[in-house]
Amino acid sequence: MGSPVVKSTPADVAALHDDPWEMALRQFSYAADRLTLKRGIRDVLCQPHREFTVHFPVQMDDGSVQMFTGYRIIHNGTLGPTKGGLRYSPQVRISEVRALAMWMTWKAALNHLPYGGAKGGVTCDPAALSAAELERLTRRYATEISPLIGSHEDIPAPDVGTNAQVMAWFMDTYSMHRGYSVPTVVTGKPVVIGGSAGRLEATGRGVMIAAREAARYLGRPFAGSRAVVQGSGNVGGVTARLLHAQGCTVVGMSDVRGGIYNPKGLDPNAALSYLKETGALAGYPEAEAVSNAELLELPCDMLVPAAIEGQITGANAERIQARVIVEGANGPTTPEADEILGTRGVTIVPDILANAGGVIVSYFEWVQDLQSYFWSEEEINANLERLMVHSFGQVTRVASEQGVSLRTGALIFSVQRVAEALMARGIYP
Ligand code: NAD
Repeated sequence: MGSPVVKSTPADVAALHDDPWEMALRQFSYAADRLTLKRGIRDVLCQPHREFTVHFPVQMDDGSVQMFTGYRIIHNGTLGPTKGGLRYSPQVRISEVRALAMWMTWKAALNHLPYGGAKGGVTCDPAALSAAELERLTRRYATEISPLIGSHEDIPAPDVGTNAQVMAWFMDTYSMHRGYSVPTVVTGKPVVIGGSAGRLEATGRGVMIAAREAARYLGRPFAGSRAVVQGSGNVGGVTARLLHAQGCTVVGMSDVRGGIYNPKGLDPNAALSYLKETGALAGYPEAEAVSNAELLELPCDMLVPAAIEGQITGANAERIQARVIVEGANGPTTPEADEILGTRGVTIVPDILANAGGVIVSYFEWVQDLQSYFWSEEEINANLERLMVHSFGQVTRVASEQGVSLRTGALIFSVQRVAEALMARGIYP
């Protein structure tokens, strides 16, 4: 494979909506075109380094055996050990994991973390598995990908469909194989086994900080602004709660089955409790039911997509009413939508900046585990705030110097940094 291929026929453009890897390559091209990268360096950066696919059996509760497919993809390890989440979802496919791994490389570089980028996932529906089945699946998957994993090699974390409990099973499996406890092998663990204070909330807290900085950057009020949040999991749920706590009016929220809308404002705490009790936001009192597609087009000042990639596309970008989009999810906006929204003057705070709080506090967790010395939640949150504000300023500076969007500005910074490191290390042998 040479330099990234930018597809341009209508059929190819339509296919791009469904292909996260093509999307990641296109975003990379926009940035790389503005840098004077040696051709060989560009070729290294636009390909994943290692791709591991595993097919493995899991014994189900009824005694049957079911086969599952999982992946772990390492995009680039130039800056250090690789880092990236594990996703459990029926939609997990190799092109998605590949794109997510590349985005992790840029996210770590942008935020000055000593990590490369990786991602993993298993194609499964965690909601359809019992806790015991989920545990057996996790332990077998951890074993299958263990040749790549290690405290100084490749360090997983939670993502869609996984959580602190899954990380605990993963860490325990790895530790059992070693014969001693290895807390540094995953982040996002429960605090009782070496997790960090503040990690559970870190991504959503970072999204809130990014939203606040965006308002400051644009000279708009933050408190009192109307927000719509897509996704009510770890990222969306915490973001909605913290935006509400900061005085924003959260008018729309959603889960995978659909959304709820109240122009006067929702109480995210009550809505999330309702979701926990009933398994869905649908039916939440004092709110109108909307589909996930309608949710994105609701009248609001700020839209926070915090579910999955490919939600804001060429098909709906014209109808988005928000003036600011803060990307809690990875890859929620396609390059076509970027172009349309850019022309319409909508500001997009890109994923590698907006949702970096998770990997930043994962880094703090790893450092604490390596030192066996733990910080208070106040220290964690203060350091998270410092890094997020610094990265935001760095991105707006590059974007304005180069006359590009915040996404391309962020990518220019990241790609440049990884390219410099690659050139400093040289091409072995
Ligand atoms: P999660 O599993 O906790 O929550 C996902 C939410 O999205 C749920 O409310 C789910 O119902 C909803 N959802 C799932 N599929 C959907 C679909 N097809 N359409 C609409 N809604 C759907 O996951 P999370 O950890 O909150 O991750 C959300 C996003 O944030 C992902 O893009 C993830 O890569 C990104 N992210 C997560 C972290 C983290 O620390 N967890 C860090 C950075 C980025």
